[in-house]
Amino acid sequence: MHQDIESVLMSEAALQKRVAELGEAISRDYAGKEILMVCVLRGAFIFMADLARAITVPVSIDFMAVSSYGASTTSSGVVRIIKDFDEAVEGKHILIVEDIIDSGLTLKYLYNQILSRKPASVRICTLLNKPERRKAEVPVDYNGFTIPDAFVVGYGLDYAEKYRNLPYIGILKPSVYGEK
Ligand code: 5GP
Repeated sequence: MHQDIESVLMSEAALQKRVAELGEAISRDYAGKEILMVCVLRGAFIFMADLARAITVPVSIDFMAVSSYGASTTSSGVVRIIKDFDEAVEGKHILIVEDIIDSGLTLKYLYNQILSRKPASVRICTLLNKPERRKAEVPVDYNGFTIPDAFVVGYGLDYAEKYRNLPYIGILKPSVYGEK
Protein backbone atom coordinates (compact mmCIF):
# COMPACT_ATOMS: atom_id res chain seq x y z
CA MET A 1 0.00 0.00 0.00
CA HIS A 2 1.17 3.56 -0.72
CA GLN A 3 2.60 5.34 2.34
CA ASP A 4 0.10 8.24 2.09
CA ILE A 5 -2.92 5.91 2.20
CA GLU A 6 -4.59 5.27 5.54
CA SER A 7 -6.70 2.32 4.39
CA VAL A 8 -7.97 0.68 1.22
CA LEU A 9 -11.71 1.14 0.78
CA MET A 10 -12.16 -0.81 -2.47
CA SER A 11 -9.58 -3.23 -3.79
CA GLU A 12 -8.79 -3.62 -7.46
CA ALA A 13 -10.81 -6.85 -7.55
CA ALA A 14 -13.82 -5.25 -5.84
CA LEU A 15 -13.74 -2.38 -8.35
CA GLN A 16 -13.57 -4.73 -11.32
CA LYS A 17 -16.48 -6.81 -10.03
CA ARG A 18 -18.68 -3.77 -9.44
CA VAL A 19 -17.85 -2.18 -12.80
CA ALA A 20 -18.80 -5.44 -14.53
CA GLU A 21 -22.14 -5.43 -12.68
CA LEU A 22 -22.82 -1.81 -13.63
CA GLY A 23 -21.97 -2.59 -17.26
CA GLU A 24 -24.44 -5.47 -17.27
CA ALA A 25 -27.23 -3.38 -15.75
CA ILE A 26 -26.63 -0.52 -18.19
CA SER A 27 -26.51 -2.89 -21.20
CA ARG A 28 -29.82 -4.43 -20.11
CA ASP A 29 -31.52 -1.07 -19.55
CA TYR A 30 -30.38 0.35 -22.90
CA ALA A 31 -31.07 -2.78 -24.98
CA GLY A 32 -31.77 -1.73 -28.59
CA LYS A 33 -30.44 1.80 -28.03
CA GLU A 34 -27.16 3.64 -28.45
CA ILE A 35 -25.51 5.54 -25.61
CA LEU A 36 -23.43 8.69 -25.65
CA MET A 37 -21.21 8.29 -22.59
CA VAL A 38 -19.99 11.62 -21.25
CA CYS A 39 -16.96 11.36 -19.00
CA VAL A 40 -16.48 14.13 -16.49
CA LEU A 41 -12.73 14.79 -16.48
CA ARG A 42 -10.42 14.17 -15.00
CA GLY A 43 -11.35 11.89 -12.13
CA ALA A 44 -13.68 9.61 -14.11
CA PHE A 45 -11.25 8.67 -16.88
CA ILE A 46 -10.27 5.24 -15.56
CA PHE A 47 -13.81 4.33 -14.53
CA MET A 48 -15.06 5.43 -17.96
CA ALA A 49 -12.49 3.27 -19.76
CA ASP A 50 -13.39 0.18 -17.74
CA LEU A 51 -17.15 0.83 -17.83
CA ALA A 52 -17.20 1.37 -21.61
CA ARG A 53 -15.64 -2.08 -22.04
CA ALA A 54 -18.23 -3.65 -19.74
CA ILE A 55 -21.14 -2.29 -21.84
CA THR A 56 -22.34 -4.41 -24.75
CA VAL A 57 -24.73 -2.00 -26.54
CA PRO A 58 -23.20 0.50 -29.02
CA VAL A 59 -21.58 3.49 -27.34
CA SER A 60 -19.89 6.68 -28.40
CA ILE A 61 -17.85 8.67 -25.95
CA ASP A 62 -17.20 12.29 -25.21
CA PHE A 63 -15.43 14.26 -22.52
CA MET A 64 -16.28 17.28 -20.48
CA ALA A 65 -13.97 19.04 -18.05
CA VAL A 66 -15.11 21.14 -15.14
CA SER A 67 -13.18 23.02 -12.51
CA SER A 68 -12.23 20.84 -9.56
CA TYR A 69 -11.15 21.53 -6.03
CA GLY A 70 -7.49 22.02 -6.97
CA ALA A 71 -5.37 21.39 -3.91
CA SER A 72 -8.27 21.54 -1.50
CA THR A 73 -10.63 18.81 -0.31
CA THR A 74 -13.95 20.65 -0.17
CA SER A 75 -16.18 22.07 -2.88
CA SER A 76 -16.21 25.79 -3.55
CA GLY A 77 -19.67 25.41 -5.08
CA VAL A 78 -18.41 27.28 -8.14
CA VAL A 79 -18.54 25.18 -11.29
CA ARG A 80 -16.75 26.20 -14.46
CA ILE A 81 -16.84 24.29 -17.76
CA ILE A 82 -13.24 24.08 -18.94
CA LYS A 83 -13.93 21.76 -21.87
CA ASP A 84 -17.37 21.34 -23.38
CA PHE A 85 -18.24 18.21 -25.31
CA ASP A 86 -17.73 17.89 -29.03
CA GLU A 87 -20.68 15.65 -29.94
CA ALA A 88 -24.19 16.99 -30.52
CA VAL A 89 -26.44 16.03 -27.61
CA GLU A 90 -29.88 16.59 -29.12
CA GLY A 91 -31.93 13.42 -29.48
CA LYS A 92 -29.27 11.18 -27.91
CA HIS A 93 -29.32 8.95 -24.85
CA ILE A 94 -26.74 10.55 -22.56
CA LEU A 95 -25.04 8.67 -19.76
CA ILE A 96 -23.03 10.99 -17.54
CA VAL A 97 -20.09 9.11 -16.03
CA GLU A 98 -18.80 10.62 -12.77
CA ASP A 99 -16.11 9.54 -10.35
CA ILE A 100 -17.76 10.74 -7.15
CA ILE A 101 -20.76 12.76 -6.05
CA ASP A 102 -20.07 14.74 -2.91
CA SER A 103 -22.07 17.95 -2.48
CA GLY A 104 -23.74 17.27 -5.84
CA LEU A 105 -23.15 20.86 -6.95
CA THR A 106 -20.93 19.96 -9.91
CA LEU A 107 -23.30 17.36 -11.26
CA LYS A 108 -26.44 19.41 -10.74
CA TYR A 109 -24.94 22.11 -12.93
CA LEU A 110 -23.82 19.66 -15.61
CA TYR A 111 -27.11 17.80 -15.58
CA ASN A 112 -29.08 21.01 -16.18
CA GLN A 113 -26.67 22.08 -18.92
CA ILE A 114 -27.16 18.78 -20.73
CA LEU A 115 -30.95 18.80 -20.25
CA SER A 116 -31.16 22.22 -21.88
CA ARG A 117 -29.61 20.73 -25.04
CA LYS A 118 -32.65 18.47 -25.61
CA PRO A 119 -31.26 14.93 -25.32
CA ALA A 120 -33.61 11.93 -25.71
CA SER A 121 -32.69 10.98 -22.11
CA VAL A 122 -30.08 11.66 -19.45
CA ARG A 123 -28.92 9.26 -16.78
CA ILE A 124 -26.15 9.50 -14.23
CA CYS A 125 -23.65 6.77 -13.40
CA THR A 126 -21.27 7.44 -10.53
CA LEU A 127 -18.61 5.15 -9.18
CA LEU A 128 -18.75 6.60 -5.67
CA ASN A 129 -21.42 8.42 -3.73
CA LYS A 130 -21.14 10.37 -0.46
CA PRO A 131 -24.83 11.06 0.29
CA GLU A 132 -24.06 12.47 3.76
CA ARG A 133 -22.60 15.61 2.21
CA ARG A 134 -25.28 16.29 -0.41
CA LYS A 135 -26.29 19.94 -0.89
CA ALA A 136 -27.93 19.68 -4.32
CA GLU A 137 -30.13 16.72 -5.24
CA VAL A 138 -29.33 14.87 -8.43
CA PRO A 139 -30.99 11.68 -9.70
CA VAL A 140 -28.38 8.91 -9.48
CA ASP A 141 -29.39 6.04 -11.74
CA TYR A 142 -26.31 3.85 -11.32
CA ASN A 143 -24.24 3.91 -8.16
CA GLY A 144 -21.06 1.89 -7.74
CA PHE A 145 -20.45 2.30 -4.01
CA THR A 146 -21.86 4.45 -1.24
CA ILE A 147 -18.93 5.57 0.91
CA PRO A 148 -18.51 7.42 4.21
CA ASP A 149 -17.46 11.05 4.45
CA ALA A 150 -13.71 10.70 3.91
CA PHE A 151 -11.40 12.05 1.23
CA VAL A 152 -10.53 9.23 -1.16
CA VAL A 153 -8.00 8.87 -3.96
CA GLY A 154 -6.99 6.31 -6.56
CA TYR A 155 -8.58 4.69 -9.65
CA GLY A 156 -8.61 8.11 -11.34
CA LEU A 157 -9.24 10.28 -8.28
CA ASP A 158 -6.52 12.68 -7.18
CA TYR A 159 -5.31 14.95 -4.50
CA ALA A 160 -3.34 17.82 -6.08
CA GLU A 161 -3.08 15.68 -9.25
CA LYS A 162 -1.41 12.78 -7.47
CA TYR A 163 -2.55 9.21 -6.72
CA ARG A 164 -4.73 8.83 -9.85
CA ASN A 165 -2.73 5.78 -10.89
CA LEU A 166 -3.35 3.74 -7.74
CA PRO A 167 -5.32 0.66 -8.87
CA TYR A 168 -7.52 0.73 -5.74
CA ILE A 169 -9.57 3.40 -3.91
CA GLY A 170 -8.06 4.42 -0.61
CA ILE A 171 -8.60 6.96 2.13
CA LEU A 172 -5.85 9.58 2.10
CA LYS A 173 -4.07 10.21 5.39
CA PRO A 174 -5.33 13.60 6.67
CA SER A 175 -1.71 14.55 7.44
CA VAL A 176 -1.11 14.68 3.66
CA TYR A 177 -3.50 17.62 3.31
CA GLY A 178 -2.38 19.29 6.49
CA GLU A 179 -4.81 17.98 9.11
CA LYS A 180 -3.62 16.03 12.12
P1 5GP B 1 -19.33 17.90 -5.69
O1 5GP B 1 -19.66 19.04 -6.59
O2 5GP B 1 -20.30 16.76 -5.77
O3 5GP B 1 -19.10 18.36 -4.27
O4 5GP B 1 -17.89 17.41 -6.12
C1 5GP B 1 -17.66 16.46 -7.07
C2 5GP B 1 -16.22 16.46 -7.48
O5 5GP B 1 -15.37 16.75 -6.35
C3 5GP B 1 -15.80 15.09 -7.93
O6 5GP B 1 -16.02 14.93 -9.31
C4 5GP B 1 -14.35 15.05 -7.54
O7 5GP B 1 -13.57 15.62 -8.56
C5 5GP B 1 -14.27 15.91 -6.31
N1 5GP B 1 -14.33 15.12 -5.05
C6 5GP B 1 -15.33 15.04 -4.15
N2 5GP B 1 -15.03 14.21 -3.14
C7 5GP B 1 -13.81 13.73 -3.41
C8 5GP B 1 -12.94 12.79 -2.74
O8 5GP B 1 -13.21 12.19 -1.69
N3 5GP B 1 -11.75 12.56 -3.35
C9 5GP B 1 -11.37 13.16 -4.52
N4 5GP B 1 -10.18 12.84 -5.01
N5 5GP B 1 -12.15 14.04 -5.17
C10 5GP B 1 -13.35 14.31 -4.62
